Amino acid sequence: MRKISADYIFPVSSEPIKNGVVSISDDGTILAVESSISGATEHYSGIICPGFINTHCHLELSHLRSQVSEKKGITGFIKEIIEKRTAFSEGLIERCIVDAEAEMIRNGIVAVADISNNSSTFKQKEKKNLYYHTFIEIFSMDPSKAEETIEKGKKLIAELTTSGSISPHAPYTMSEELLALINNVAEENNSILTIHNQESEGENEMFLTNSGVMFNAFKEMGINTNLMRKTGKNSLQSTLKHLHKAKKTLLVHNTFTSKEDLDWIKSNRSNLKSQLYFCTCPNANLFIENKLPDYKLFIEENATITIGTDSLASNWSLSILDELKTITKYCPEIPLQTLLIWATKNGAEFLGQNQLGSIEKGKKPGLNLLKNVDGISITEKTEVVKLA
Ligand SMILES: [Zn+2]
Repeated sequence: MRKISADYIFPVSSEPIKNGVVSISDDGTILAVESSISGATEHYSGIICPGFINTHCHLELSHLRSQVSEKKGITGFIKEIIEKRTAFSEGLIERCIVDAEAEMIRNGIVAVADISNNSSTFKQKEKKNLYYHTFIEIFSMDPSKAEETIEKGKKLIAELTTSGSISPHAPYTMSEELLALINNVAEENNSILTIHNQESEGENEMFLTNSGVMFNAFKEMGINTNLMRKTGKNSLQSTLKHLHKAKKTLLVHNTFTSKEDLDWIKSNRSNLKSQLYFCTCPNANLFIENKLPDYKLFIEENATITIGTDSLASNWSLSILDELKTITKYCPEIPLQTLLIWATKNGAEFLGQNQLGSIEKGKKPGLNLLKNVDGISITEKTEVVKLA
């Protein structure tokens, strides 16, 4: 048994405890959380919080670290990914996956919602060094290919021996027919869903008026413009209504999501919290579009926010702390307690992993030490050390 104390314990499920002590068993189960430092066997200066939950990653793209140009917009990014993702040997891709996972563990991440287009990460996931939920990502704008596409997804998920479900890629790469088929599978398997959402303005424009940067880029790539849905509504409003309302759904990015969109969700669903989670990947947003979501809006509307790193193709690191630092840099008024709820508890709840996400008796959340903090705030210099 270890009795670990720090200047502050952030259980996350309750208010921070000054000079608190966490007792854990040898297997990491929380035995007690107390407010008296006496009897502690280890003391750290800094903050102890639960293990981080990374709710958006593409582990299979780890070999593209430093390979893709920054700030080229989503269509420039997609073009480069398509060109470069297969230009590497299988051995190198495998090594980069192993290294990327080790980086996440070092950075105090205990669970990952990971996107897969192929099986290259499955072997590593089977080692269960981390908890993974794999979203098998499928896409096709062509309604006549919907059946064939869902069958491909089913074939791939049959190879996966860890937790997973089939999910749509993004509003702009889906036909309504394919969305309906994905819903059927989610219903049959009672599974969670995710979709990239409003990562660029071009995505909204494509749906509103069949014009703009994304529309033009796809046209240039030779995609039949008749397949690009023009609904007169933006991408979120054109897509969310086709997704299963009763299944937990994680909308990823939300960089161009507006108050009007959140109001629309409230009128379309019983409330904003009704099975919906909003994942933010701030560093990837700066990397690709150089813009961040309107965090104030999401906080005002009491949306359930989670944090993702996205892949090393569009990020400099796989670190939830680095994402929190970026949010703090642009929105210093958001308290650490709020950021840590996003980084731990909300993601665990989305994944249905109740033993993770908060420091409470009986749970096994992993423990992170945040050192070089300023009282109860993180700074540029803050580092994470995995304690358990
Ligand atoms: Zn992504």
